[in-house]
Amino acid sequence: MSADHPIAIVIHGGAGELEKCFTEEEYSAVLVQAACAGYTLLLEGSSSIDAVVAAVVVLEDSPLFNAGKGAVLNSAGGIELDAAVMEGSQLRAGAIGAITNIKNPILAARTVMEDSPHVLLVGRGAEQFAAAQQCQIVSPDYFHTEHRREQLKRFLAAKQSPADSHQHGTVGAVALDKNGNLAAATSTGGTTGKLPGRMGDTALIGSGTYADNRTCAVSCTGHGEMFIRHAVAHRLAMPSAHSAASLSERAGEIIRELKLVGGSGGLIAVGPRGELVMEFNTPTMPRAAIGADGNLIVSFGR
Ligand code: ASP
Repeated sequence: MSADHPIAIVIHGGAGELEKCFTEEEYSAVLVQAACAGYTLLLEGSSSIDAVVAAVVVLEDSPLFNAGKGAVLNSAGGIELDAAVMEGSQLRAGAIGAITNIKNPILAARTVMEDSPHVLLVGRGAEQFAAAQQCQIVSPDYFHTEHRREQLKRFLAAKQSPADSHQHGTVGAVALDKNGNLAAATSTGGTTGKLPGRMGDTALIGSGTYADNRTCAVSCTGHGEMFIRHAVAHRLAMPSAHSAASLSERAGEIIRELKLVGGSGGLIAVGPRGELVMEFNTPTMPRAAIGADGNLIVSFGR
């Protein structure tokens, strides 16, 4: 009989710059609540997928982050949410894109993985499927906050491109459970002023989210188009017989290389022995982690 694996969880609240209208204390309180929600489940022996979903639900329910309530607005002033989950044991994955009325997109992504024969559902079909699986439906108004309306106004007035937005705020979690199973979850409203119908990296398995028990679980945040083009999550999680570099070193290299080609953002990852990785090339990436030693870390900048 094999011994229990170490348990670990890492969460992020998006790479970029902190929103000035919230304090570090406010961010910290939600990050701690989310990390503890996931970690408590791991301690009780629940699976890593249960843990990452529980952590992301807390972050989606908070208006501080760009996921669920408080998500950013697209160029038409609407909200379209993307989310994905993946399990490292069987490479099972589920994702939803451009949904407007499911309270917790991460729960919808999980039900796509567990209850449908598909990996990615988008738009109306995704909403109908999630509703049929008892995901809670809300009016699109539920997600709107004054702060995001102001942000869109400034964005449109400055004639910016969504790629210029430095406020990200996507959320994600990765975890390792006592059976050695890894899982990843990511949820986002995308980028401020994006075109309706735009899909970023978050819901694309291998771009913003990936998990493979042999290597790591990873959740990304940042300029989604660049994460898609460079297949960032899968690049980190791809088994490599040739590299002697640690998971953390490889993650650092990927994020530095991304910056050289104009891609801002970051990622969190956890490896099969509980290695914790948090890399970013932006001023901050609010994050929290609880590793094998049981100590809670909460950080913003470097
Ligand atoms: N990666 C997300 C997207 O492009 C945005 C973010 O992480 O802030 O949709």
